[in-house]
Amino acid sequence: MSEALAGKAAALDAADELAPHRALFALDDGVVYLDGNSLGALPRHVPARMQDVIAREWGELRIRSWEESGWWTAPERIGDRIAPLIGADRGTVVVGDSTSVNVFKALVGAVRLADEDRDEILVDASTFPTDGYVADSAARMTGRRLRALAPADIPAALGPRTAAVLVNHVDYRSGRLNDLPAMTAAIQEAGALAVWDLCHSAGALPVGLGTHGVDFAVGCTYKYLNGGPGSPAYLYVRGDHQARFDTPLPGWNSHEDPFGMRSAYAPGDGAVRGRVGTPDILSMLALESALDVWDGVSIEAVRAKSLALTDFFLECVEAYVPAGRVSSVTPAAHAERGSQVSLRCEKADEVMRALTERGVVGDHRRPDVLRFGFTPLYVGFADAERAAGELAALLG
Ligand SMILES: *Cc1c(COP(=O)(O)O)cnc(C)c1O
Repeated sequence: MSEALAGKAAALDAADELAPHRALFALDDGVVYLDGNSLGALPRHVPARMQDVIAREWGELRIRSWEESGWWTAPERIGDRIAPLIGADRGTVVVGDSTSVNVFKALVGAVRLADEDRDEILVDASTFPTDGYVADSAARMTGRRLRALAPADIPAALGPRTAAVLVNHVDYRSGRLNDLPAMTAAIQEAGALAVWDLCHSAGALPVGLGTHGVDFAVGCTYKYLNGGPGSPAYLYVRGDHQARFDTPLPGWNSHEDPFGMRSAYAPGDGAVRGRVGTPDILSMLALESALDVWDGVSIEAVRAKSLALTDFFLECVEAYVPAGRVSSVTPAAHAERGSQVSLRCEKADEVMRALTERGVVGDHRRPDVLRFGFTPLYVGFADAERAAGELAALLG
């Protein structure tokens, strides 16, 4: 489309230290995959590992694998692999269940740690719907009132009535990054607990759960962490809350002596308290294997590339797409941007279908938003330039 931008893309790709990571993924060269914020791409080595898990660990060792293949301890072990990616200490993250289920555990757990007389739960009004539904149920169960507010209005609404606040770190629709350090500090200043949903930030940018003293957090692993469709989510409970974390789903897996088969519940110590029932081992081990692509990767480098990619994509869109056909709903300021670009566009569904046919895969959110997710481990600058060019060709 433009020699200058194509040349700039080539130069940026040549200087990109993360570029070699692309070869770790099963991606066909003709396709620009910008939907890793919905379903991360497959790391090439995972199928062989799963073949071994299924044929040997399950097929040959069978029941012995709970011990010998480390199945039983997988939720904590894999939690410890995710912990550094979100700035959490060892022993504070456990993997299992879906994000929706973990939102429930975290939010009810947070409310149960708050003072009895605090009768409100606040939720980010633009939240991914499941978080809002779960928050509503959690509020009814714990006898609290739920208030949905725009993230910008949350600080002013905090007060002696606030028990807990549930916020999405990055908004799934607009790609807006909420200010986790400042909002966590404000929530705690008001005496309430902060629960963060990291679905669209973990694996895309530094989260710093420990540094910022976040109380609880949850997130999924099939987006930027490439764990595979429906791979289990994770729950973070700050170390000093663990002993008082009163889970609303006390299954036998979180018992201090699961095989004691006792009728009275007594919670185990540490991250294990976030477990419920038998872990989904196949998905969990696919996730564990997929996490190998993060070995030696600095999340700061990922963030730097992510911002450079989204900046460059916006620059190409501006240069290529006829004026007025799209407008970005993603904040221009780096401090407010996640790792996706959302463009408002008429007939977004038809446009995305046609774009996909041209080999540029993103997605759309009704009614009029095109979403382009930039996953720095396997998307490059030439991909961003090509995506903008194909979009312009469609809209021109
Ligand atoms: C993707 C996403 C979810 C998904 O929840 P599941 O239980 O895995 O279906 C939840 N919350 C947010 C913010 C998300 O982006």
